[in-house]
Amino acid sequence: MSRIYCDLECLRYHTPGHPDAPERVASAAERLKRSGRALLPPDYTATEADAALAHDPGHLSSVRDGLYCDEDTPHYDGIELFAMLSASCAVSAAMSAAAGEPGFSLMRPPGHHAGRRRAAGFCYLNNLAIAVSVLGRARPSLRAAILDIDAHHGDGTQDIMLGRPDVLFVSLHQSPLYPGTGLRSEGNCLNFPLPPGTGEAAYLAALEKGLSSITAFKPDVLAVSAGFDAFRADPIAQLRLEKTSFRRIGGLIAGAGLKRFGVLEGGYAPDLPVLVENFLETFL
Ligand SMILES: [Zn+2]
Repeated sequence: MSRIYCDLECLRYHTPGHPDAPERVASAAERLKRSGRALLPPDYTATEADAALAHDPGHLSSVRDGLYCDEDTPHYDGIELFAMLSASCAVSAAMSAAAGEPGFSLMRPPGHHAGRRRAAGFCYLNNLAIAVSVLGRARPSLRAAILDIDAHHGDGTQDIMLGRPDVLFVSLHQSPLYPGTGLRSEGNCLNFPLPPGTGEAAYLAALEKGLSSITAFKPDVLAVSAGFDAFRADPIAQLRLEKTSFRRIGGLIAGAGLKRFGVLEGGYAPDLPVLVENFLETFL
């Protein structure tokens, strides 16, 4: 069994023309439902104390009051509530994974560019970092691996997790590309920068290397920042994965045999629903 979490309340903010359009989640949710998947509301409500496990104390109020400054990441009334709802689904997926059922959070806003005290790149709170931290609070000996397959470097996740002996962070991303970080590995953060135009074979080879480091780390749980913007037709990145590549990626990750969950990050092509479906077919 597996569990997919989604709350369509997350469709209720948008800026015309912004890449993170509500239709992304709406169309993917529609496709999954049509193929017979149940989409569950979060069964955990993330709290301010949960957010404070990953972020500096003033960060949530800075999101609420729009005190941060990032032109890609507009301020909306109530955005902190949407961000907390996205975090709630991520924690729900993480708890499902810990209980032995792979989980996935199909939500927005995404999270992997949100750092300790920074909202950026369409991200306000780092959903995945919060989810991993909530699991770690319940079980202090927990070892977690984080795999980021979004086409952009997970700079926010690295900011939060760098130097933690209980966490291994692995990111595959296009370089050069926003945010311009992740050019080399640092401590517990293994970065695989890939040149624009990288296709499936080279991508999967890097993924296998990353997964072998993850397996060697012997984590209790594997958390995946699942971005789909490495797809060849994505409008804001230039990697060259095919639709079917995401089935292979999900299969390779599942093949590691770890307790696992994923959260939606980026992915802006109109094909997002089929990419998500292909990934989940093998990942879950
Ligand atoms: Zn991205």
